[in-house]
Amino acid sequence: MDVGQPVEVPGPPRDEQLLTGLARLGQAVRMSAWRNAGPYGLTPLQADILTFLAGDDRPRRQGEVVAALASTAPTVSDAMRALTGKGLVGKARDAADARAFVLTLTDAGREEAARLSVVPEPLRAAVAALDPGDLAAMLRGAATMMRELQERRAIPISRMCVTCRFYRPDAHPEDPERPHHCMFADAPFGDGELRLDCPDHEPA
Ligand code: SF4
Repeated sequence: MDVGQPVEVPGPPRDEQLLTGLARLGQAVRMSAWRNAGPYGLTPLQADILTFLAGDDRPRRQGEVVAALASTAPTVSDAMRALTGKGLVGKARDAADARAFVLTLTDAGREEAARLSVVPEPLRAAVAALDPGDLAAMLRGAATMMRELQERRAIPISRMCVTCRFYRPDAHPEDPERPHHCMFADAPFGDGELRLDCPDHEPA
């Protein structure tokens, strides 16, 4: 055997293996959401809605929630009815259009959103098991895949660095640890700090 040559390991293609891994991780996140139903017995969709409304804490129309969560109007309507019934979301007339309604978190809804923002075990332990290099590589890969899926309209738009007008990739080639620049914060940063949902994002 030629010791200098890389060995071909037979098996399924790597892209298939990656998609299998991502599917398993998605399953773990969903199972964790069901287990994290909390005192109000939230479904994963209800939890996603609270988290979305807490994002920049401003009134939102139901259509915005439907688009952001890639759901359907009847499904979100049902979840919203449950959330208002639980006293977590309030409904008010839209100041800009008297025929429309906007949705906001109540104080209890804000408290629930804060509880949901704490990453539960064992997801926290799984992320902590990554070394900084792997974490940065996974963030970079996730951002690339999400941008591709967004361009193909396969997922809703996320507020990611790679689609942000403030993002300057590789603006600091002299610093491999922090090669990118955020014009909003006027600060350099590395792959490990790439944001996938940033409140200061503005589309490029
Ligand atoms: S504003 Fe947020 S999304 Fe935009 S480049 Fe800066 S950190 Fe990234």
